[in-house]
Amino acid sequence: MLIKLSGGTVYDPANGVSGEVRDIYVEDGRIIAAPSPETRIDKTYDLKGRVVMAGAIDPHTHIGGGKMTIARMLLPEDHIKDEVARTDLTRAGTGHAVPSTLLTGYRYAEMGYTACFEPAMLPANARQAHMEMGDTPMVDKGAFAMLGSDDFFLRQLAAKEDFKAIKDYVAWTMHASQAIAVKVVNPGGISAFKFNQRKLDLDEEHSYYHVTPRQIILTLARALQDLGVTHPLHIHGCNLGVPGNVETTLDTIRAAEGVPIHLTHIQFHSYGTEGDRHFSSGAARIAEALNKAPNISVDVGQVMFGQTCTASGDSMRQYAISRSAHPKKPVVMDIECDAGCGVVPMRYRDKSFVNALQWAIGLETFLLFDDPWRMFLTTDHPNGAPFYTYPHLIRLLMDKSFRNDILQKINPDAAAASTLKALTREYTLDEIAIMTRAGPARSLGLKDRGHLGVGANADITVYKDDPNREAMFATPELVFKNGELIVKKGKVVKVVNGATHVARPEYDRAIEKPLKDYFDRFHTMRMANFKLSDDEIVDRGRGGLIVQPTRPRAA
Ligand SMILES: [Zn+2]
Ligand SMILES: [Zn+2]
Repeated sequence: MLIKLSGGTVYDPANGVSGEVRDIYVEDGRIIAAPSPETRIDKTYDLKGRVVMAGAIDPHTHIGGGKMTIARMLLPEDHIKDEVARTDLTRAGTGHAVPSTLLTGYRYAEMGYTACFEPAMLPANARQAHMEMGDTPMVDKGAFAMLGSDDFFLRQLAAKEDFKAIKDYVAWTMHASQAIAVKVVNPGGISAFKFNQRKLDLDEEHSYYHVTPRQIILTLARALQDLGVTHPLHIHGCNLGVPGNVETTLDTIRAAEGVPIHLTHIQFHSYGTEGDRHFSSGAARIAEALNKAPNISVDVGQVMFGQTCTASGDSMRQYAISRSAHPKKPVVMDIECDAGCGVVPMRYRDKSFVNALQWAIGLETFLLFDDPWRMFLTTDHPNGAPFYTYPHLIRLLMDKSFRNDILQKINPDAAAASTLKALTREYTLDEIAIMTRAGPARSLGLKDRGHLGVGANADITVYKDDPNREAMFATPELVFKNGELIVKKGKVVKVVNGATHVARPEYDRAIEKPLKDYFDRFHTMRMANFKLSDDEIVDRGRGGLIVQPTRPRAA
């Protein structure tokens, strides 16, 4: 089947194409070069006046794993309230802040997204995370294994074990849990919480292991760099949400010593202590530091107003915010020797000084940072807001007067404390395409995703060029996945399953000897059962497995 997408206005920043009218040809799920004129075209879509981009990629969205299940069970009202009120779903789906797996897949596809990455998979919980992602149709997926508060690694670090053994363990974990990348959450802090520490700053010692978050970050970041994993260490830093944490974040930027790292939901890590309420924006200082640090990429974790549910591996910080839970039913727990988790329902109010300033800080970050290749559009779903607020967020970035209208309605003290009104930048379609497609694809090492060049996977989104960018991005006219039409006028017309992306860096199997002893002594599970097989991922044909090449650095 040869398909022609005719005469659309193409935004494909990875290939230097910015708003050019072009034809795109698709065959066998891939984009091909223009065939000879006599070739028979099976189907032509006339895209005159339409905006064409690659399928969007969300590099940080919590869509699978234990904490999402807890959140769904914790909030039955979230699944009864018919905010969705839709009768035309191809299969059942409910939920607002924490939609069911099916609805998650549909709503992402209906917004033109074709790939989503779960950033906080506990290795001990990998089986469940992959089963839930397998149950999420329409989109490709992948997961980041959480390390850094697990006892095996902390023992290695405390015992000053040689770096090779640490790298072997990191690579082994990626294989065992079928991960594409590695994330560290509150480095060492989740473990320290189990030893009754209630905070752990970058250079503070873990009371039992006597190692610091700085050591943990540098060790893991270097390990991934040596192993040749494309996505750098994904860091949820120390002191999330703590006023004054801007200093910790600036220290973390310096602590990387030029090694590539990704700082996630940076909005939650950009808080100062100025003003009467001792809560202020650190966005300008962070943006200034980031603009000068080409080794660092970030995603924002924008806060949007309304009911949501925070869900994080950071049990230390989730415990601290559990007092602000709305409704009042937080869950905080320890998990195996791996980490912990906290699920805290949250309602962000535009009349609250703190919430309104959080909203403004996220937007300031977007508008002050000058390289969209290193900044990705996220709400840290569902922590800052559910993912389907993205079209509204895009309009806030692209439309200054719309932004200023909303600024008028938020808590006036927060509005006055923010520089947002003075920021006149409006994002271009090119920059949106970089931030939501080309940038995440490059960062995650997805060579044939996020662009529209010859050979790319035919994940393509077609929009009406509506000056109301929220309407435009909420309801794409057409979405193709692997060359198949899956969404028409914002509604799913065909249910497909995406692939799971993994990376498998090389390692020395000798690491399994100490690991087996460790599992036998401390874990509730044997080492052999800890590992996920390929069949568990592709079970019942629910999408394939794509192994990304890794290029280890010479020792
Ligand atoms: Zn996080
Ligand atoms: Zn997150």
